[in-house]
Amino acid sequence: MQTRFLCVSLLFVGLIGGSQAQSLKPDFKTQLKLGKEAAAELRKKEKVLPASDQRVKHLTMLGSKIIATIPASELKARPYEFTFEVIESKEINAFALPGGPVFFYTGLLEKLKTTDELLGILGHELTHVRGEHWAKMVEDQQGKGLLVGVLSEIFKVGRTGRTVANIALTLDGLKYSRNYEYAADKGGFDIESRLGYNPQGMANVFQMFLDLKGKGGDPEILKTHPDDKKRIQRIQDMIKKSGKTFPAEVRLPWVTNERLK
Ligand SMILES: [Zn+2]
Repeated sequence: MQTRFLCVSLLFVGLIGGSQAQSLKPDFKTQLKLGKEAAAELRKKEKVLPASDQRVKHLTMLGSKIIATIPASELKARPYEFTFEVIESKEINAFALPGGPVFFYTGLLEKLKTTDELLGILGHELTHVRGEHWAKMVEDQQGKGLLVGVLSEIFKVGRTGRTVANIALTLDGLKYSRNYEYAADKGGFDIESRLGYNPQGMANVFQMFLDLKGKGGDPEILKTHPDDKKRIQRIQDMIKKSGKTFPAEVRLPWVTNERLK
């Protein structure tokens, strides 16, 4: 099992110029560049499944469906470069990098039963990208003076003179605040609802994580997505409030009857 710090790290140079920290959000171009660099690094380290793999195809198909719902004005303002890839690894994890690269781990896919479950996570992750949550988090932390302190320690970067801050984006760095997580869950709910799938799928996934934890497991994704009980409740509340009846969940194409027993 790899350590969680090894996964992605990239340097972000030039956010802070001069002697004073300016509070600013990395612009979209910067997010895109950083996301692409992190994705390239990840591809070098990990075994990425070929595009012809059934799981990659299914993930890409769902991703395209979500992209088709994004308003043209948003795409014009923020030309995302979404990619959908699967990493061969026992790790139970999935994440999206700033600007659009999305990675799912086979360890997580193996635990999923329905397309509704997969779409819920994908919708959640794409909401982080579309909401520019990473960039906002950088801005928030900068505002609190937290980021510079932490980074100075990591990189032994001086804080005086013309300091250049190196900001590391690790997977732990993709741990969003609760509000961004709730926003992403709402995004997942909305996309399931809009595309005719069942948002219960997303709640199932969080329940599955809880069950794994109960059995002594330690899903990697829980490090960035805690509070499962509350999240399940919130999703269930959204389902109730919508007053809609959602269709039955659809089994993932590679899941056999045997697996469902
Ligand atoms: Zn999240």
